Amino acid sequence: MTPPVEEARRRSASDYRFGKVLGEGSFSTVYLAKDIHTSKEYAIKVLEKAHIIREKKTEYVMREKEVLRILGSSCPYFVRLYWTFQDPEHLYFVLTYAKNGELLKQIDKCGCFTIDCARYYTAEMVLALEYLHGKGIVHRDLKPENVLFDDNWHILITDFGSAKILKTDNTEKCDNDTLDKGDRKRRNSFVGTAQFVSPEMLSESSSSHASDLWALGCILYQMVSGMMPFRGRSEFLIFQKILNLEYEYPEGFDPQAKDLVQKLLVIAPNERLGAMDQTTYTSIRQHELFKDLNWDDLGPPPKIS
Ligand code: ATP
Repeated sequence: MTPPVEEARRRSASDYRFGKVLGEGSFSTVYLAKDIHTSKEYAIKVLEKAHIIREKKTEYVMREKEVLRILGSSCPYFVRLYWTFQDPEHLYFVLTYAKNGELLKQIDKCGCFTIDCARYYTAEMVLALEYLHGKGIVHRDLKPENVLFDDNWHILITDFGSAKILKTDNTEKCDNDTLDKGDRKRRNSFVGTAQFVSPEMLSESSSSHASDLWALGCILYQMVSGMMPFRGRSEFLIFQKILNLEYEYPEGFDPQAKDLVQKLLVIAPNERLGAMDQTTYTSIRQHELFKDLNWDDLGPPPKIS
């Protein structure tokens, strides 16, 4: 396991000028920061060690770091981890700065996306998932808050704390032990976010690359309609709807997008479109929604509207 070259340079917080807070997570604060040597901007995620230990989140943090290390810099659709360092109280992750924020904010701002926009960003997510799954990693918490935009409006997928690294010998495509014990107790045996969690994660606590395909279907639905497919007043009610595949399409929902959503939101993981594909999601790429798309060059993103 070779660490990123940059790690060898021994960085510290004093190499950066910390600016505004970009956001807060349950265990972290993310700052905009400028490298004092190059003036390049980064997002630095600062985690308080004592808090992580107290909340038994060490494994979550280690996993995020390991996944980001595996992903490296070869695929442009993921936030990149440039450096990590620590001081007695904190851990620091120096990440790509996603200047244009979260996909969720854009959907909320526009109400919903045009079909061109929804198609384009679904295609970027398909390419990202091909890369991620090809590395034997399942995200398990894919949702519009975890899809950020870079300065050119390309996606940057983030938040790998819930990810699972599958064994790479191709024998384990599916995982049953989804959480460390502390998490399992606290979160009642599901990882991810209620509205985007797949039925198999709820019913069997198992997940595979097909669980991310389910989430992709939910995100496409949300980009097209502005709403999440499974909604309810409580997590329990949302889970019931997911397990019963109980959702509706609002009037005017694009028919090709609807067909793709229907083929991704399938209870049996192996029957989801793409689930049985090998290295590329050929059956998704060949879907009618993408008929005029050049998968080798998606071109510039359409203006979000
Ligand atoms: P939780 O840990 O509770 O699931 P989270 O995963 O959103 O929350 P963080 O990864 O710490 O927590 O991110 C906190 C917020 O900071 C995010 O909601 C996002 O808006 C912002 N943020 C995170 N990473 C970046 C980044 N690379 N560029 C720009 N903003 C970011």
